[in-house]
Amino acid sequence: MIKKDVVIVGAGPSGITAAIYLKRAGIDFAIVEKSMPGGKVALTSKVENYPSFNSIDGVELALKLQDQLSFNNIELTFDNIKEINRVQNEYEIIGDFDTYSCKYLIIASGTKERKLDLDKEDRFYGRGLSFCAICDGFLYKDKEVAVVGGGNSALEESLYLANICKKVHLIHRRNEFRGDEILSRKVKTTPNIEIHTPYVPSKILGDNIFEGLLIKNVDTSKEEELLVSSTFVYIGNTPNIEFIKFDLEIKDGYILVDEDMKTSLDNVYAIGDVRSKKIRQIVTAVNDGAIAALAIEKEMKKA
Ligand code: NAP
Repeated sequence: MIKKDVVIVGAGPSGITAAIYLKRAGIDFAIVEKSMPGGKVALTSKVENYPSFNSIDGVELALKLQDQLSFNNIELTFDNIKEINRVQNEYEIIGDFDTYSCKYLIIASGTKERKLDLDKEDRFYGRGLSFCAICDGFLYKDKEVAVVGGGNSALEESLYLANICKKVHLIHRRNEFRGDEILSRKVKTTPNIEIHTPYVPSKILGDNIFEGLLIKNVDTSKEEELLVSSTFVYIGNTPNIEFIKFDLEIKDGYILVDEDMKTSLDNVYAIGDVRSKKIRQIVTAVNDGAIAALAIEKEMKKA
């Protein structure tokens, strides 16, 4: 059992920021991450709305975040957290490799990708369907691909894929995009992006080999075949909270917090995309991390 004053679960931008602030306050903590630090930033093609970088590759920004942990002598613990229990007034965090206990818990576990809810879908992830254009896009160089979604992720990754692929079919269920106007304008003026709205995928074509999608017009219900080599799914996310084995106040599936990032339970904080909030951006994630760490520092001084 590894005993710490604070444990941060997740090393995306919010968790890493909390770690930097806790370190500077001289607090004993662990930051636990199951995969690459940086969270979804590492899976983003370009970041162009984070101050101090005009334009930076997501992977590069994730590496810079990781580098800042090293610079501050913060050790990152790699473990996959399966369960978090409340034991008396402390929290017990059970991972594949170790168990951690702490008085203060920061949940920074982010979100996972929402799926299309179509037959045969799971069979095709990694074999035609993908959540990550920067990971898999190059496999479809000079081919036709599809992107599903109308948020910032779908728009940004369509632009990224348009540089690699022969053609990108962007499928969105409404005629207006949810994503930022600047991205929407770029997508509409990119010659090799064809926009299909208001459409949703209704069937995956192919049995063992992915052949494309059947897409359905939301207004007319008319269906048409879209033969593409791959489809990138960006239809939003759901929070990673299934490992929390105690009750927290939740809103629309996300953890409810106050201005200090404090949840409904004593000494439990939630930051970044996993918490209920209006704007999910890197800049709001780092904001959350700083606030939670400073609030914990204040609480610890009082105790
Ligand atoms: P999102 O903003 O939630 O957008 C999801 C999109 O998928 C929406 O357009 C939605 O349509 C559509 N959708 C949802 N369920 C669907 C379904 N079952 N079938 C078909 N379409 C469906 O998700 P996101 O783009 O992944 O972004 C997540 C968060 O990260 C957002 O807050 C976003 O602003 C942020 N983000 C920011 C940046 C940036 O600032 N550079 C980059 C990436 C992500 P409707 O619009 O009709 O609901």
